[in-house]
Amino acid sequence: MESEITGCSIRDACGRVVSVWLIMLDNVPTVAMFVLGAVLVRMAWGSAAIAMVLYDLLAVVLFWRLICRHCAQFGSRACPCGYGVVAAKFFKKMEGGDFRKVFRRYIAIMYPCWFVPLAAGIHLLYSRFNKSALTIFIAFTVIAFILIPVISRLVGCKGCDLKDQCPWMRPGRASEAQP
Ligand code: SF4
Repeated sequence: MESEITGCSIRDACGRVVSVWLIMLDNVPTVAMFVLGAVLVRMAWGSAAIAMVLYDLLAVVLFWRLICRHCAQFGSRACPCGYGVVAAKFFKKMEGGDFRKVFRRYIAIMYPCWFVPLAAGIHLLYSRFNKSALTIFIAFTVIAFILIPVISRLVGCKGCDLKDQCPWMRPGRASEAQP
């Protein structure tokens, strides 16, 4: 039986709600990448691994603060990776911004999470080659440069309402003006 509901308090009742398994699918490989990346940095440069872990955490928080706040999915369970919900617990939404410009301006904060461990792995294999280093390096590169982008494009972000505005999913549109 249908009933008239006024002032419904159910958040996102009429919008997309990304399932927990999809959020896990998005985040578990990222965590694995951070762990393997820290291991590579540890093997190559010792205690610099602590700085790597701290930077990874900082980069995620900066991503919430600098990028997610400008996103229409902020505070919504429509966010494919769950950041939108978590970020809203710590930061306030910014209205009226150009999400594509903001995304392109700040996305570089995430680059060291991928490229510092890559550099550490290459340095390690060049200077002190061994099988365990090679195995970890391969696992890191497969997760970071193949698995994460593929999951994001073919699963997590595939059903996102904002994919046409997002420079990650539509890089060719990234330089256009806001519609
Ligand atoms: S869709 Fe992307 S930018 Fe938007 S809230 Fe989620 S993680 Fe942040």
